[in-house]
Amino acid sequence: MKEADLIVEGGFVLPMNKKDSVLKDTSVVVKDGVIVDLLPVQKANAIYSAKERAGGSDYLVMPGFINTHTHAAMVAFRGLADDLPLMKWLKDYIWPRESRFVTADFIRKSLPLALAEMIASGITAFADMYFFQDVAAEIVREVGLRAVLGEGLADFPTPSFKNPEDGLRFSRKFIEDHKKDPLIIPALAPHAPYSCSPDLLRKSYELSREYNVPYLIHVAETKDEIEELRSKRGLTPIKYLDELGVLWERTVAAHMIWLGEDEFEIVKKRKVGVSHNPTSNLKLASGIAPVPEYLKLGVKIGLGTDGTASNNDLDFTDEMHLVALIHKVHRGDPTVVKAAEVVYMATRGGAEVLGISDTVGSLEKGMSADIIVIDLNRPHLQPLYEPFSHLVYALKSSDITHTIVRGRILYEKGSFRTLDIEKALFDMRELQKKLR
Ligand SMILES: [Zn+2]
Repeated sequence: MKEADLIVEGGFVLPMNKKDSVLKDTSVVVKDGVIVDLLPVQKANAIYSAKERAGGSDYLVMPGFINTHTHAAMVAFRGLADDLPLMKWLKDYIWPRESRFVTADFIRKSLPLALAEMIASGITAFADMYFFQDVAAEIVREVGLRAVLGEGLADFPTPSFKNPEDGLRFSRKFIEDHKKDPLIIPALAPHAPYSCSPDLLRKSYELSREYNVPYLIHVAETKDEIEELRSKRGLTPIKYLDELGVLWERTVAAHMIWLGEDEFEIVKKRKVGVSHNPTSNLKLASGIAPVPEYLKLGVKIGLGTDGTASNNDLDFTDEMHLVALIHKVHRGDPTVVKAAEVVYMATRGGAEVLGISDTVGSLEKGMSADIIVIDLNRPHLQPLYEPFSHLVYALKSSDITHTIVRGRILYEKGSFRTLDIEKALFDMRELQKKLR
């Protein structure tokens, strides 16, 4: 018998290396955090023994979800200000509170709850634009999630830095400190074309290029932003960013709702990745992104929750459900954005957007064991004819029994193995008393 660390068995296994392949009664064998084999259950049981097991014939096994855009520690602002337009919401409610309250200690008290929420909804990797990312990196590493972390940069003072130069200096050091980390992918995170000077956008780009790390940015989120930039810079966001030369294959553009006809080709040519955040876009009435066009053109596209202040949760199954529905009603066409396409966006597509698809996003030999297990023995998941359909139209995050990152089980049947949930809840209640 060969020794493995973990065997994950599924009645259905979705490898996601191709858009719609489904394996039946298959075991995923894990050793040292890596998938070493994928084979029929009976064969696996004859060849391998393992210290731990998960799943079984009534379970579905697939790659973990990849949240391509969030501001995780914002969970502390959940439900604090709803039903407002983006700019008013940012300028009157969020930015003043962030500058007053967001400190390293705030991140320590707030972030664990966000991580718990993401883990319980099957997210195994997330991209985050926020502050004090060195503190966040420590917490994320300890909990064992995978994260792309970019320190938020803007022209105005942020909670961590008085001026953008200090933010850039921090970003360089942060990249240097984490570039070999197996779980943390350091990134640049200039906030948006309207909140960053051309100089800041360009310098951030140069750093991302120098280290070949992601360049996270909000782009073309609202109509107002398009008008503001057109009057200030004479160009729409895509053309403006392209003229600055900051669109490239590591650019992760969140939202991307308002594009001109001739701008899709630029996005495609520059190999920009799109992060689609349906709940946030609906809640802020930002608009509906042209996802069918992105899919048709073969633009890299993944899903994001955005921060909880504009969502208001970090539940990935909600996003999958919404993305499959909103484009259908928007186009008056039930054939657009198909279930299998949504699952691809949620997994492999997200990994492509973040530039980490050589490590995660699919279940194949040699890939990192970032895996989720779903219990199919639920009233709303039977009968099962087509797994992609259930994942998009019927799944609840409470059906997820295991969340595994690098072969380590972080979550098992409602319990967090690497995170003290009681402490996270207590800390959040303490923090709330200050924020009110
Ligand atoms: Zn955002």
